[in-house]
Amino acid sequence: MAPMAVPIPFVREMGFTYGEAEEVSPLVRRVVARNPSLFTLYGTNTYLVGRSQVAVIDPGPALKEHRAALRKALGGATVTHILVTHRHLDHCEAAAALAAETGAVLAAGTPGTAGALHAGHSHEEDVDSTFAPLAALRAGSRLEGPDWRIEVVPTPGHTSDHLCFSLPDEGLLFTGDHVMGWSTSVVIPPDGDMRAYVASLRLLQSRREKTYLPGHGPQVADPPHYLAALIAHRAEREAGILSALAGGRHTIPAIVELVYAAIDPRLHPAAGLSVLAHLRALVAERRVVCHGELGLEAAYRFH
Ligand SMILES: [Zn+2]
Repeated sequence: MAPMAVPIPFVREMGFTYGEAEEVSPLVRRVVARNPSLFTLYGTNTYLVGRSQVAVIDPGPALKEHRAALRKALGGATVTHILVTHRHLDHCEAAAALAAETGAVLAAGTPGTAGALHAGHSHEEDVDSTFAPLAALRAGSRLEGPDWRIEVVPTPGHTSDHLCFSLPDEGLLFTGDHVMGWSTSVVIPPDGDMRAYVASLRLLQSRREKTYLPGHGPQVADPPHYLAALIAHRAEREAGILSALAGGRHTIPAIVELVYAAIDPRLHPAAGLSVLAHLRALVAERRVVCHGELGLEAAYRFH
């Protein structure tokens, strides 16, 4: 495969210590959970916004050590809000217990009707089916503490319920798994939707936040440049998939082998799901025909 025309400027380095809260801005602290993996890098970033009355963004996995670290970082502060970017376990597993313990409002987006995720994904990407937030957040929903206000920015794509949270006074956007500085996002149909994902990237292009704080890995310092690279990357992948089809590769494994030749083979199952996400959009747009049930096993052709 030809080298990528649009390299994405990934950054993996991040200074942190498990169990310690790091200040990332005057109003925001980050505590990293110890659930490292191929999909989470060092683990899940839990963010604490505010000082005396705190919003916790993505409480993370239910790990005793992480819970203790959050308790220590919170000190005598009151948790007033628990905000969840999306219903993947690595982001929200600890949410219900934290809400029960603190009495905070637990709030998240609303999932679409597409239902369960496709088989073959990682544990981190499992949906928490028991997750029951008290409040459903929508575009423009506002949340406030004495020294902070947060605006809700729906960004479906990685999942149908995915939200970003803006802290306009500091020019920050909490981006969950929608935009991460070290990796592209996994888009798993049917809940994940490639066209929605790219539309949500374009939505962020129209916004003014200067720095992104993702759910995993370091901050993104140059959002306009980074978003442009992510969008170009997906267009390039789709062009690669179309040319693989034109070249006689009709199954997802055969397409992955060609289009994702450069990535770690351990990521090929996730890549297959991303190819499926592109094909699903192309089939819906009648540019590609699916033979068999739309999924990982089907054959795909132009007619
Ligand atoms: Zn996720």
